[in-house]
Amino acid sequence: MAENLTQSYPDNGTLKQSALPIIDQFGRSFTYVRIALNEQCNLRCIYCMPEEGIDFRTEDKLLTTEEICRFIKIISKMGVSKIRFTGGEPLLRKDLPKLIQFAKGTPGLESVHLTTNGLLLSKQIQELERAGLSGINISLDTLDYEKFKKITRRDGLDLVLDGLEKAMQSTIKSIKLNVVAMRDFNNDEIMDFVALTKDNDITVRFIELMPFDSHQIWKTGKFYGADHIVSDLEKQLGELKNVAGSPTEHHVFKIDDYKGKVAVIPAYSRSLCGECSRVRITADGKLLNCLYSQSETNLRGMIRSGASDEEIQDKIRKVMWNKLKDGWEAQHYGKEHRESMTQIGG
Ligand code: SAM
Ligand code: SF4
Repeated sequence: MAENLTQSYPDNGTLKQSALPIIDQFGRSFTYVRIALNEQCNLRCIYCMPEEGIDFRTEDKLLTTEEICRFIKIISKMGVSKIRFTGGEPLLRKDLPKLIQFAKGTPGLESVHLTTNGLLLSKQIQELERAGLSGINISLDTLDYEKFKKITRRDGLDLVLDGLEKAMQSTIKSIKLNVVAMRDFNNDEIMDFVALTKDNDITVRFIELMPFDSHQIWKTGKFYGADHIVSDLEKQLGELKNVAGSPTEHHVFKIDDYKGKVAVIPAYSRSLCGECSRVRITADGKLLNCLYSQSETNLRGMIRSGASDEEIQDKIRKVMWNKLKDGWEAQHYGKEHRESMTQIGG
């Protein structure tokens, strides 16, 4: 069991002080929190959701605005400096600008980011800008209209491209594109995405497909590994010169004279777990210490049953201390299985 793989949390009070960073038994520290704001979505990406019959949690199970703000306040006192709002589709949540503004004004938090499918972005960009958003990751797997319909089961590529354009024109500093690479679907578009970095100061990130898709495309041979992506890129571009990127980006490079960057994320290969700095909260208020974790901790329950800030901090520290070495180990322990990224928060 998981317990055998973990050292006991040093319960001598030293790790409980709120000013200390959140750390684990392998020496990692956790400064980045991803908060899922909902499970609902206006797309139905085939690697993420079934077409219909989705058992979304009811509203009362999701964290309220006040509960999320309280959590942000608590975690900001534990050395966390970066927050990302995700989902489901976070732009469907009406209180998003308010949450961004709150997080941005919270001492200790240096940057507040968003991951979105971009459909509603052009409508909301000004409000997000005013709220103080630091960065947006837009998920877009193809630049082809028919393929877009196939992958998302909806129309809307024009809206996403318009959202991307508006985001690039805004004052929001960091704009990234998340592209899930899939064999015989979009691996032939890799260079089209790279071309977007020529005149635009954005990062295009190729992400490995992961098995969180409610039994759908994972088993159909669409996986296209980080090594394949890098080798395709090298075939076209020669040796890639690395530049700095985020810790979970496997390979980050820039082509001479291009404004933007390109990155590869080994989300399935899990070769960068040693660099992980992430804490995850699901839309229903469960704490996960790994994307692949099969066990979760009910912070919503603690918040609703009147736990103090110190009790919640202590719980977060213990759960993170027990994070397993990597996503491979995490996948094999525990029994709480989440089938879709909308339930985890990507
Ligand atoms: N709806 C928003 C979006 O699509 O950007 C935010 C939530 S979505 C779950 C977050 C990210 O997870 C997206 O970039 C999406 O492509 C990615 N994702 C979802 N399911 C995935 C899977 N099975 N494998 C790899 N990435 C996945
Ligand atoms: Fe919606 Fe994002 Fe999942 Fe696509 S990946 S169905 S946009 S939550």
